[in-house]
Amino acid sequence: MGTQKHLDIAIIGGGIAGLTLAIALHHRGVPFTLYEQAHAFGEIGAGVSFTPSAVQAMQCCHDGIFDAFEKVCTRNEWESKQTVWFDYHDGYNTPPGPSFPISNSLGQRGVHRAEFLDQLVKLIPQHVARFNKVLTSITTAASGKLVMAFGDGTTAEADAIIGCDGIKSRVRQELFPTCKPSYSHKYAYRGLIPMKQAIDAVGNENAQNACMYSRKYSNRAQMGPGGHVLTFPVKSGTVMNVVAFHTSEEPWQDSERNVRTATRADALRDFAGYGEDVTKILQLTDEKLNVWAIFDLHDNPVPLFYQGRVCISGDAAHATSPHHGAGAGFCIEDSAVLAALLSHEAINSPADLELAFAVFDECRRERGQWLVESSRFIGDCYEWRAEGVGNDFAKIENEINRRNSIIADVDVAVMCQQARDTLSRKCGSLVRGFSANI
Ligand SMILES: Cc1cc2nc3c(=O)[nH]c(=O)nc-3n(C[C@H](O)[C@H](O)[C@H](O)COP(=O)(O)OP(=O)(O)OC[C@H]3O[C@@H](n4cnc5c(N)ncnc54)[C@H](O)[C@@H]3O)c2cc1C
Repeated sequence: MGTQKHLDIAIIGGGIAGLTLAIALHHRGVPFTLYEQAHAFGEIGAGVSFTPSAVQAMQCCHDGIFDAFEKVCTRNEWESKQTVWFDYHDGYNTPPGPSFPISNSLGQRGVHRAEFLDQLVKLIPQHVARFNKVLTSITTAASGKLVMAFGDGTTAEADAIIGCDGIKSRVRQELFPTCKPSYSHKYAYRGLIPMKQAIDAVGNENAQNACMYSRKYSNRAQMGPGGHVLTFPVKSGTVMNVVAFHTSEEPWQDSERNVRTATRADALRDFAGYGEDVTKILQLTDEKLNVWAIFDLHDNPVPLFYQGRVCISGDAAHATSPHHGAGAGFCIEDSAVLAALLSHEAINSPADLELAFAVFDECRRERGQWLVESSRFIGDCYEWRAEGVGNDFAKIENEINRRNSIIADVDVAVMCQQARDTLSRKCGSLVRGFSANI
């Protein structure tokens, strides 16, 4: 741990962005308090998979995060599939049409979210977290401190605030009220199926290794419902995670709530006409299912990731649809870069924090907002409906590989070093500018 700095940073939200940032700051001696609206840290019981850059970012934040991930992650079962991210199948025709593997250096690494979070929580001391704290507003006191008001009527002060409060971020609303998430016209059923049943239904190869089953949009009209279904093993291969995306032209009824309850019958109706593997998988899901509306910041991106000493990170800054499987990974990249900046020797007083946030914005905004854009496009590619790609399988494969390599083929340690170098340069020019003014 580095020398303790005399700063007072507030992190709002204890999801993947907030927790990884908290761990990285704690182990660098940067003081902070984490405020979470729930009564405890918690994640939903679903799978999340990570890209090679996400895993590098874990190591940059703190080795303990990487160790936690290694402890709970599940790989593809087959030796021959260790670098396969997903096997892409035609999920529409029986017998199926063409299929191809999408590969990267890491292959498929999925975790059960709650299991991963349980490990992460062990990496910070309990006293840094305050629960049941719903941030409602931010103001500035006469002393210059930022004042946070919470739903329980209490307030707290900080030198800087980092909003890691997810897609519906209150911190983002305070900074940029018009930058609201919008519906991507896709929703997803999520389920977990015991592996034995999954194998009986679709065979060892497709149950124990990650697969994506795609379908073109309806032939009946030029526009119409389409979808794609992802499966990958989690929980040491004992469970198959399922995410079934459906595209719909209808609006999402309740923009305040992005999760609604549905039934297995609803899912089967949405995926009627798919190939037999998809039908068999959905038949094995629970009778009651949650449906997640896919919202993102595609239509209303933020102009900056900060304003003054208030910053946003993770989904709060660049909430994306999940089609690249990289939203959570980008949260961890953000944490790695923020921690690299906030632990820089030039960041010592509250007045320095705005500069750190400005460099964070400079280093991360373009990549974060590219993901939001690209994810929408690739989601349509999977469903044979992207402009200029359609159902040309060679083009689909090319687009997936090209875009995935933008995500994966980076060196996160270099990214962090470049951010620190930029900060050093700016500090140097500030100091020179200051001297010149004397
Ligand atoms: C269907 C689906 C599948 C996905 N699959 C993948 C995948 O395979 N790989 C991947 O990398 N990404 C995936 N993602 C994206 C990933 O889930 C998100 O990018 C990531 O979880 C965002 O983390 P976060 O910490 O920024 O936000 P969140 O996880 O939303 O955490 C925000 C935290 O802030 C708290 N909070 C909110 N408001 C307040 C407030 N006012 N005051 C105090 N606390 C507050 C919340 O309680 C929560 O704990 C998927 C997303 C979806 C919807």
